[in-house]
Amino acid sequence: MTNRAARAEVVVDLDAIAANTAVLRDRVGRPLMAVVKADGYGHGLLPAARAVLAGGADFLGVAVLDEALALRAAGITAPVLSWLHGPGTDYAAALVADVEVSVNAEWALAEVVAAARATGVTARVHLFVDTGLSREGATAADWPGVVAAAARAQADGDVSVVGLWSHMAYADAPTHPTIGAQVRVFEEAVDVARRAGLTGAALHLANSAATVALPETWYDFVRPGVALYGLDPLGGNPADHGLRPAMTVRASIALTKRVPAGVGVSYGHTYFPQTETTLALVPVGYADGVPRAAGNSAPVLAGGAQRTIAGRVCMDQFVLDVGDADVHEGDEVVLWGPGDRGEPTAQQWADAVDTIHYELVTRIGGRFTRRYV
Ligand code: PLP
Repeated sequence: MTNRAARAEVVVDLDAIAANTAVLRDRVGRPLMAVVKADGYGHGLLPAARAVLAGGADFLGVAVLDEALALRAAGITAPVLSWLHGPGTDYAAALVADVEVSVNAEWALAEVVAAARATGVTARVHLFVDTGLSREGATAADWPGVVAAAARAQADGDVSVVGLWSHMAYADAPTHPTIGAQVRVFEEAVDVARRAGLTGAALHLANSAATVALPETWYDFVRPGVALYGLDPLGGNPADHGLRPAMTVRASIALTKRVPAGVGVSYGHTYFPQTETTLALVPVGYADGVPRAAGNSAPVLAGGAQRTIAGRVCMDQFVLDVGDADVHEGDEVVLWGPGDRGEPTAQQWADAVDTIHYELVTRIGGRFTRRYV
Protein backbone atom coordinates (compact mmCIF):
# COMPACT_ATOMS: atom_id res chain seq x y z
CA MET A 1 0.00 0.00 0.00
CA THR A 2 1.28 3.45 -0.83
CA ASN A 3 1.35 5.63 2.24
CA ARG A 4 0.42 9.28 2.41
CA ALA A 5 3.96 10.56 2.85
CA ALA A 6 5.17 8.81 -0.28
CA ARG A 7 2.48 10.63 -2.24
CA ALA A 8 3.62 14.09 -1.29
CA GLU A 9 6.99 14.76 -2.82
CA VAL A 10 9.44 17.44 -3.68
CA VAL A 11 10.98 16.37 -6.97
CA VAL A 12 14.41 17.86 -7.66
CA ASP A 13 15.85 17.96 -11.16
CA LEU A 14 19.61 17.75 -10.58
CA ASP A 15 20.41 18.20 -14.27
CA ALA A 16 18.63 21.54 -14.13
CA ILE A 17 20.84 22.64 -11.22
CA ALA A 18 23.97 21.57 -13.11
CA ALA A 19 22.79 23.27 -16.30
CA ASN A 20 21.89 26.49 -14.47
CA THR A 21 25.36 26.54 -12.92
CA ALA A 22 26.97 26.15 -16.33
CA VAL A 23 24.76 28.90 -17.81
CA LEU A 24 25.73 31.36 -15.09
CA ARG A 25 29.41 30.50 -15.22
CA ASP A 26 29.44 30.91 -19.00
CA ARG A 27 27.61 34.19 -18.67
CA VAL A 28 30.20 35.71 -16.36
CA GLY A 29 33.24 34.03 -17.89
CA ARG A 30 34.97 33.66 -14.55
CA PRO A 31 34.86 31.34 -11.52
CA LEU A 32 31.68 30.82 -9.54
CA MET A 33 31.05 30.13 -5.87
CA ALA A 34 27.78 28.18 -5.67
CA VAL A 35 25.76 28.97 -2.56
CA VAL A 36 24.29 25.74 -1.17
CA LYS A 37 23.32 26.92 2.32
CA ALA A 38 19.94 26.21 3.90
CA ASP A 39 19.97 22.62 2.66
CA GLY A 40 20.73 23.71 -0.88
CA TYR A 41 17.85 26.22 -0.77
CA GLY A 42 15.56 23.31 0.10
CA HIS A 43 16.86 21.07 -2.70
CA GLY A 44 19.17 19.00 -0.44
CA LEU A 45 22.66 20.08 0.60
CA LEU A 46 24.67 17.17 -0.76
CA PRO A 47 22.76 16.52 -4.01
CA ALA A 48 22.75 20.25 -4.75
CA ALA A 49 26.48 20.51 -4.02
CA ARG A 50 27.27 17.59 -6.29
CA ALA A 51 25.04 19.02 -9.04
CA VAL A 52 26.63 22.48 -8.98
CA LEU A 53 30.09 20.94 -9.03
CA ALA A 54 29.04 18.81 -12.01
CA GLY A 55 27.89 22.03 -13.66
CA GLY A 56 31.31 23.62 -13.21
CA ALA A 57 31.11 25.49 -9.89
CA ASP A 58 34.58 26.28 -8.59
CA PHE A 59 33.78 26.86 -4.91
CA LEU A 60 30.89 26.25 -2.51
CA GLY A 61 29.47 28.79 -0.10
CA VAL A 62 27.44 28.06 3.04
CA ALA A 63 26.17 30.16 5.91
CA VAL A 64 27.05 28.05 8.92
CA LEU A 65 30.01 25.87 9.74
CA ASP A 66 27.95 22.71 10.27
CA GLU A 67 26.90 22.90 6.62
CA ALA A 68 30.55 23.10 5.56
CA LEU A 69 31.50 20.19 7.80
CA ALA A 70 28.61 18.13 6.38
CA LEU A 71 30.02 18.71 2.88
CA ARG A 72 33.43 17.52 4.02
CA ALA A 73 31.98 14.52 5.88
CA ALA A 74 30.35 13.48 2.61
CA GLY A 75 33.72 13.54 0.86
CA ILE A 76 33.28 16.78 -1.05
CA THR A 77 36.75 18.28 -1.47
CA ALA A 78 35.99 21.49 -3.40
CA PRO A 79 36.92 24.75 -1.64
CA VAL A 80 34.18 25.76 0.82
CA LEU A 81 33.58 29.14 2.45
CA SER A 82 31.48 29.39 5.61
CA TRP A 83 30.46 32.85 6.75
CA LEU A 84 28.05 33.20 9.65
CA HIS A 85 29.88 32.57 12.91
CA GLY A 86 29.25 33.80 16.42
CA PRO A 87 31.64 33.85 19.35
CA GLY A 88 32.91 30.44 20.42
CA THR A 89 32.73 28.97 16.91
CA ASP A 90 34.82 25.82 16.55
CA TYR A 91 37.26 27.32 14.06
CA ALA A 92 39.70 24.48 14.79
CA ALA A 93 37.18 22.07 13.24
CA ALA A 94 36.89 24.37 10.24
CA LEU A 95 40.65 24.56 9.74
CA VAL A 96 41.22 20.83 10.14
CA ALA A 97 38.47 20.25 7.55
CA ASP A 98 40.06 22.78 5.17
CA VAL A 99 37.07 25.14 5.33
CA GLU A 100 37.65 28.82 4.54
CA VAL A 101 36.03 31.21 6.99
CA SER A 102 34.68 34.72 6.80
CA VAL A 103 35.70 37.29 9.39
CA ASN A 104 33.56 40.31 10.34
CA ALA A 105 35.44 41.76 13.29
CA GLU A 106 38.76 41.86 15.15
CA TRP A 107 37.48 39.66 17.98
CA ALA A 108 36.48 37.00 15.44
CA LEU A 109 39.89 37.20 13.80
CA ALA A 110 41.48 36.63 17.22
CA GLU A 111 39.43 33.43 17.60
CA VAL A 112 40.54 32.27 14.16
CA VAL A 113 44.18 33.03 14.98
CA ALA A 114 43.90 31.05 18.24
CA ALA A 115 42.50 28.08 16.30
CA ALA A 116 45.28 28.36 13.73
CA ARG A 117 47.90 28.27 16.50
CA ALA A 118 46.17 25.36 18.24
CA THR A 119 45.93 23.27 15.09
CA GLY A 120 49.05 24.40 13.25
CA VAL A 121 46.88 25.08 10.18
CA THR A 122 47.08 28.47 8.44
CA ALA A 123 43.49 29.77 8.26
CA ARG A 124 42.23 30.87 4.85
CA VAL A 125 40.05 33.88 5.63
CA HIS A 126 37.75 36.20 3.70
CA LEU A 127 37.38 39.64 5.29
CA PHE A 128 33.80 40.87 5.08
CA VAL A 129 33.20 44.60 4.74
CA ASP A 130 29.73 46.06 5.29
CA THR A 131 29.19 48.26 2.24
CA GLY A 132 25.62 49.24 3.03
CA LEU A 133 23.49 46.21 3.84
CA SER A 134 24.14 46.75 7.56
CA ARG A 135 24.17 43.03 8.16
CA GLU A 136 27.44 41.04 8.28
CA GLY A 137 30.80 42.71 7.83
CA ALA A 138 32.93 45.40 9.42
CA THR A 139 31.74 48.98 9.08
CA ALA A 140 33.94 51.45 7.23
CA ALA A 141 35.03 52.75 10.64
CA ASP A 142 36.08 49.30 11.90
CA TRP A 143 37.54 48.06 8.61
CA PRO A 144 41.07 49.54 8.96
CA GLY A 145 41.42 47.82 12.35
CA VAL A 146 40.27 44.47 10.95
CA VAL A 147 42.58 44.82 7.97
CA ALA A 148 45.60 45.78 10.12
CA ALA A 149 45.01 42.84 12.47
CA ALA A 150 44.64 40.49 9.50
CA ALA A 151 47.85 41.80 7.93
CA ARG A 152 49.70 41.12 11.20
CA ALA A 153 48.20 37.63 11.47
CA GLN A 154 49.16 36.96 7.88
CA ALA A 155 52.75 38.12 8.52
CA ASP A 156 52.82 35.74 11.51
CA GLY A 157 51.71 32.86 9.31
CA ASP A 158 48.45 32.32 11.20
CA VAL A 159 46.10 33.37 8.42
CA SER A 160 46.15 33.83 4.70
CA VAL A 161 43.69 36.48 3.54
CA VAL A 162 42.27 34.88 0.40
CA GLY A 163 39.12 36.99 0.00
CA LEU A 164 37.75 40.51 0.45
CA TRP A 165 34.01 40.54 0.09
CA SER A 166 30.63 42.09 0.72
CA HIS A 167 26.93 41.60 -0.05
CA MET A 168 24.46 43.79 -1.94
CA ALA A 169 21.27 45.29 -0.49
CA TYR A 170 19.44 46.00 -3.75
CA ALA A 171 20.91 43.87 -6.53
CA ASP A 172 17.37 42.80 -7.47
CA ALA A 173 16.64 46.43 -8.42
CA PRO A 174 19.51 46.92 -10.86
CA THR A 175 19.07 50.68 -11.25
CA HIS A 176 18.85 51.43 -7.53
CA PRO A 177 21.22 54.24 -6.41
CA THR A 178 22.60 52.17 -3.51
CA ILE A 179 24.30 49.87 -6.02
CA GLY A 180 26.84 52.42 -7.18
CA ALA A 181 27.32 53.54 -3.59
CA GLN A 182 28.01 49.99 -2.39
CA VAL A 183 30.49 49.40 -5.22
CA ARG A 184 32.35 52.60 -4.28
CA VAL A 185 32.51 51.65 -0.59
CA PHE A 186 33.72 48.19 -1.57
CA GLU A 187 36.48 49.56 -3.77
CA GLU A 188 37.61 51.99 -1.07
CA ALA A 189 37.75 49.10 1.39
CA VAL A 190 39.78 47.07 -1.09
CA ASP A 191 42.23 49.99 -1.41
CA VAL A 192 42.62 50.13 2.36
CA ALA A 193 43.33 46.38 2.44
CA ARG A 194 45.81 46.57 -0.42
CA ARG A 195 47.67 49.46 1.18
CA ALA A 196 47.95 47.28 4.29
CA GLY A 197 49.66 44.62 2.18
CA LEU A 198 46.68 42.28 1.60
CA THR A 199 47.29 42.14 -2.13
CA GLY A 200 46.59 38.50 -2.92
CA ALA A 201 42.92 38.32 -1.95
CA ALA A 202 40.13 37.57 -4.43
CA LEU A 203 37.28 40.10 -4.54
CA HIS A 204 33.65 38.91 -4.56
CA LEU A 205 30.37 40.76 -4.29
CA ALA A 206 27.75 39.42 -6.72
CA ASN A 207 24.76 37.34 -5.61
CA SER A 208 22.34 35.91 -8.22
CA ALA A 209 20.69 39.20 -9.11
CA ALA A 210 24.06 40.87 -9.56
CA THR A 211 25.29 37.86 -11.53
CA VAL A 212 22.49 38.24 -14.07
CA ALA A 213 22.20 42.05 -14.07
CA LEU A 214 25.28 43.87 -12.74
CA PRO A 215 28.55 43.04 -14.53
CA GLU A 216 30.34 45.81 -12.62
CA THR A 217 30.00 43.66 -9.46
CA TRP A 218 31.50 40.45 -10.83
CA TYR A 219 35.15 41.02 -9.76
CA ASP A 220 37.17 37.80 -9.34
CA PHE A 221 34.24 35.44 -8.91
CA VAL A 222 30.47 35.55 -8.50
CA ARG A 223 28.48 34.05 -5.65
CA PRO A 224 24.96 33.12 -6.78
CA GLY A 225 22.48 31.02 -4.86
CA VAL A 226 18.86 31.15 -5.90
CA ALA A 227 19.55 31.31 -9.65
CA LEU A 228 21.36 27.95 -9.48
CA TYR A 229 18.03 26.43 -8.59
CA GLY A 230 16.41 28.00 -11.63
CA LEU A 231 14.55 30.83 -9.91
CA ASP A 232 14.74 34.33 -11.35
CA PRO A 233 16.38 36.60 -8.77
CA LEU A 234 14.70 39.56 -10.45
CA GLY A 235 11.24 38.05 -9.96
CA GLY A 236 10.56 37.52 -13.65
CA ASN A 237 10.78 34.55 -15.98
CA PRO A 238 13.87 32.39 -15.35
CA ALA A 239 13.90 31.31 -19.01
CA ASP A 240 14.86 34.90 -19.88
CA HIS A 241 18.22 34.14 -18.23
CA GLY A 242 18.46 30.59 -19.62
CA LEU A 243 17.53 29.12 -16.23
CA ARG A 244 15.28 26.15 -15.51
CA PRO A 245 13.49 25.71 -12.13
CA ALA A 246 14.73 22.53 -10.46
CA MET A 247 11.93 21.97 -7.93
CA THR A 248 8.48 20.49 -8.44
CA VAL A 249 6.18 20.12 -5.43
CA ARG A 250 3.39 17.61 -5.85
CA ALA A 251 0.88 15.66 -3.83
CA SER A 252 -2.08 13.46 -4.60
CA ILE A 253 -5.70 13.82 -3.70
CA ALA A 254 -6.70 11.93 -0.57
CA LEU A 255 -10.50 12.30 -0.79
CA THR A 256 -13.15 13.76 -3.06
CA LYS A 257 -16.75 14.51 -2.23
CA ARG A 258 -19.80 16.13 -3.82
CA VAL A 259 -21.24 19.00 -1.77
CA PRO A 260 -24.14 21.40 -2.30
CA ALA A 261 -23.74 25.11 -3.06
CA GLY A 262 -23.04 27.29 -0.05
CA VAL A 263 -21.21 24.86 2.26
CA GLY A 264 -18.49 26.54 4.30
CA VAL A 265 -15.05 25.14 3.48
CA SER A 266 -12.18 24.63 5.97
CA TYR A 267 -11.59 26.44 9.28
CA GLY A 268 -13.50 29.68 9.65
CA HIS A 269 -15.55 29.05 6.51
CA THR A 270 -13.70 31.60 4.37
CA TYR A 271 -14.84 29.91 1.13
CA PHE A 272 -18.33 28.92 -0.08
CA PRO A 273 -18.88 27.20 -3.45
CA GLN A 274 -21.43 29.02 -5.60
CA THR A 275 -22.94 25.83 -7.01
CA GLU A 276 -22.99 22.12 -6.24
CA THR A 277 -19.40 21.01 -6.67
CA THR A 278 -16.68 18.47 -5.95
CA LEU A 279 -14.25 19.22 -3.16
CA ALA A 280 -10.85 17.52 -3.24
CA LEU A 281 -8.67 17.12 -0.17
CA VAL A 282 -4.90 17.56 -0.58
CA PRO A 283 -2.96 16.02 2.33
CA VAL A 284 -0.28 18.67 2.88
CA GLY A 285 -0.45 21.77 5.02
CA TYR A 286 1.46 24.42 6.85
CA ALA A 287 3.34 21.83 8.91
CA ASP A 288 4.82 20.72 5.59
CA GLY A 289 5.82 24.24 4.55
CA VAL A 290 2.71 25.16 2.57
CA PRO A 291 2.14 28.73 3.76
CA ARG A 292 -1.14 29.35 5.58
CA ALA A 293 -1.39 32.54 3.54
CA ALA A 294 -1.92 30.34 0.45
CA GLY A 295 -5.56 29.86 1.48
CA ASN A 296 -7.88 31.53 -1.07
CA SER A 297 -4.81 32.90 -2.88
CA ALA A 298 -2.31 30.40 -4.28
CA PRO A 299 -2.96 28.30 -7.37
CA VAL A 300 -2.33 24.59 -7.89
CA LEU A 301 -2.66 22.38 -10.95
CA ALA A 302 -5.37 19.75 -10.49
CA GLY A 303 -7.63 18.05 -13.00
CA GLY A 304 -6.00 19.82 -15.94
CA ALA A 305 -6.47 23.39 -14.69
CA GLN A 306 -5.02 25.82 -12.19
CA ARG A 307 -7.33 26.27 -9.21
CA THR A 308 -7.00 28.52 -6.21
CA ILE A 309 -6.86 26.77 -2.82
CA ALA A 310 -10.37 26.92 -1.33
CA GLY A 311 -10.50 28.25 2.23
CA ARG A 312 -7.75 28.12 4.81
CA VAL A 313 -4.68 25.91 4.61
CA CYS A 314 -4.68 23.67 7.70
CA MET A 315 -1.76 22.03 9.47
CA ASP A 316 -1.87 18.83 7.39
CA GLN A 317 -4.24 19.49 4.52
CA PHE A 318 -6.05 21.91 2.26
CA VAL A 319 -9.13 21.75 0.05
CA LEU A 320 -9.71 22.43 -3.63
CA ASP A 321 -12.98 23.22 -5.36
CA VAL A 322 -12.64 21.27 -8.60
CA GLY A 323 -16.17 21.95 -9.85
CA ASP A 324 -17.41 19.20 -12.16
CA ALA A 325 -13.95 18.23 -13.35
CA ASP A 326 -13.09 14.56 -13.61
CA VAL A 327 -10.92 14.47 -10.46
CA HIS A 328 -10.52 11.44 -8.20
CA GLU A 329 -8.64 10.15 -5.19
CA GLY A 330 -4.99 9.52 -6.09
CA ASP A 331 -4.90 12.14 -8.85
CA GLU A 332 -1.90 14.42 -8.96
CA VAL A 333 -1.90 17.98 -7.62
CA VAL A 334 1.11 20.14 -8.48
CA LEU A 335 1.72 23.09 -6.19
CA TRP A 336 4.61 24.57 -8.13
CA GLY A 337 7.18 23.53 -10.68
CA PRO A 338 8.94 24.81 -13.79
CA GLY A 339 5.59 25.82 -15.29
CA ASP A 340 5.99 23.89 -18.54
CA ARG A 341 3.14 21.46 -17.82
CA GLY A 342 0.63 24.13 -16.95
CA GLU A 343 1.49 24.11 -13.26
CA PRO A 344 2.07 27.32 -11.29
CA THR A 345 5.61 28.46 -10.64
CA ALA A 346 7.22 29.28 -7.30
CA GLN A 347 7.17 32.92 -8.45
CA GLN A 348 3.38 32.72 -8.90
CA TRP A 349 3.10 31.35 -5.38
CA ALA A 350 5.39 34.04 -4.04
CA ASP A 351 3.21 36.71 -5.63
CA ALA A 352 0.04 35.04 -4.30
CA VAL A 353 1.20 34.78 -0.70
CA ASP A 354 3.21 37.99 -0.63
CA THR A 355 6.63 36.50 -0.09
CA ILE A 356 9.70 35.59 -2.17
CA HIS A 357 10.35 32.27 -3.86
CA TYR A 358 13.43 31.87 -1.64
CA GLU A 359 11.17 31.47 1.38
CA LEU A 360 8.89 28.96 -0.32
CA VAL A 361 11.59 26.58 -1.55
CA THR A 362 13.65 26.71 1.65
CA ARG A 363 10.64 26.01 3.89
CA ILE A 364 8.91 23.26 1.95
CA GLY A 365 9.61 20.03 3.82
CA GLY A 366 7.80 18.46 6.74
CA ARG A 367 6.25 15.23 5.51
CA PHE A 368 7.11 15.73 1.84
CA THR A 369 9.66 13.19 0.67
CA ARG A 370 12.41 14.34 -1.69
CA ARG A 371 13.00 12.52 -4.94
CA TYR A 372 15.86 13.24 -7.30
CA VAL A 373 15.55 12.90 -11.03
N1 PLP B 1 26.18 35.68 -0.52
C1 PLP B 1 25.68 35.83 0.72
C2 PLP B 1 26.53 36.44 1.78
C3 PLP B 1 24.38 35.43 1.00
O1 PLP B 1 23.89 35.56 2.24
C4 PLP B 1 23.61 34.87 -0.03
C5 PLP B 1 22.22 34.47 0.20
O2 PLP B 1 21.44 35.06 0.86
C6 PLP B 1 24.15 34.74 -1.31
C7 PLP B 1 25.45 35.16 -1.53
C8 PLP B 1 23.34 34.21 -2.47
O3 PLP B 1 22.27 35.06 -2.69
P1 PLP B 1 21.21 34.75 -3.86
O4 PLP B 1 20.50 33.51 -3.45
O5 PLP B 1 20.34 35.93 -3.86
O6 PLP B 1 22.01 34.57 -5.09
